[in-house]
Amino acid sequence: MPLSISCKEIGMDCDFVTDGETGEIVIDSLMRHVHTEHSEDWFEIEEYYQAACAIIQMKAA
Ligand SMILES: [Zn+2]
Repeated sequence: MPLSISCKEIGMDCDFVTDGETGEIVIDSLMRHVHTEHSEDWFEIEEYYQAACAIIQMKAA
């Protein structure tokens, strides 16, 4: 079963959802979206990255 993550789950008011076979793929795709659509601030992106990792770890467990 593929993993999925949405922008809402990392605290964004946004309907973007992405899925993939591994957590790495999903996080990579989400972070590319965040960088393009939401933030160019690497400090902020790092925070979203940490949040996304925590969510994926929970879902993959
Ligand atoms: Zn978004």
